[in-house]
Amino acid sequence: MNNRNADVKLSFEFFPPKSDEMERQIWIAVDGLKRWNPDFVSVTYGAGGSTRDTTLTTVAGMIAEKGLAAASHLTCVGSTREEVADIVAEFKAAGVRHFVALRGDPQGGIGTAYQPHPGGFANGAELTAGLRAMGNFEISVSAYPEKHPESADSAADIDMLKRKADNGATRALTQFFFDNDVFARYIDRVRAAGITIPVVPGILPIQNLAQVKRFARLCGASVPGFVDAALAPVEDKPEEHAKRSAELAARQVEGLRALGISDFHFYTMNRAPLVSDVLERTGLFGDRGAVASKAA
Ligand code: FAD
Repeated sequence: MNNRNADVKLSFEFFPPKSDEMERQIWIAVDGLKRWNPDFVSVTYGAGGSTRDTTLTTVAGMIAEKGLAAASHLTCVGSTREEVADIVAEFKAAGVRHFVALRGDPQGGIGTAYQPHPGGFANGAELTAGLRAMGNFEISVSAYPEKHPESADSAADIDMLKRKADNGATRALTQFFFDNDVFARYIDRVRAAGITIPVVPGILPIQNLAQVKRFARLCGASVPGFVDAALAPVEDKPEEHAKRSAELAARQVEGLRALGISDFHFYTMNRAPLVSDVLERTGLFGDRGAVASKAA
């Protein structure tokens, strides 16, 4: 029995493997994290359908072989509505009942202008409505506590989230952030806009600070000074880096819990040890992981 706090929910995000070694790695990570009894796991989807086959085989394996409730991310950039419907039917046949519905990054890359496909869904809100019409799926969507870089302002961003919720989204998963005050202010604005679906914080335990800083710059997330101060001095000391990283993420989760947050979505980067360390340090998620990992 996992003695996790009854109202705490947990999900893990993975990305589809690009090589045999990565394939080996993801299943080690899935097996390592399965003991935390996640409410669901999810597998990302390359914009433009670049990972369609590997996303499908990975998510299908999680459902059929690992017995996990698994969601597939789905982007609509560059696809017609009919193409999206075909993909959804294919994933449904493989047992997928939960999609993370996304527009996807512009085809020219982050920072270039987004061109909706003339016969396709223009954004995450339209895709949500399309999916809702295609079946009784659970639909998660994206949310951006520090605003999406393409949004004119925070109000436009929250308006998009409202449209997604109105169109049938069941929860929002946020972009990663490290400052809980940013999230608290965001939630206040979301609730003031009448959005009632759960908005689940995306937690990113940092495996590689330089990489996270680069990615944060691209996607409009900030890396606060306290994160830099804790990790930059130990970038070349992997063990100390991992320890401090786990401690930072554990304190973040505890801080969010103190704000009344009960659902947590972890960006795993297809690695189990750091995420397990975070979960053990908080004590919120039961002790089964700790016992099992020590026995392994
Ligand atoms: P949307 O929410 O549709 O749009 C983003 C913002 O742009 C909106 O808030 C809105 O303000 C503005 N905007 C969009 N359309 C319009 C419009 N017509 N008029 C005015 N403003 C508009 N990417 C992948 O490729 N694969 C993945 O698997 C993936 N998974 C993700 C999971 C999570 C939890 C998150 C947070 C992001 C993920 N992404 C993924 C990244 C995502 O694809 C990018 O951030 C993309 O640029 C936006 O997609 P979206 O669905 O969030 O866009």
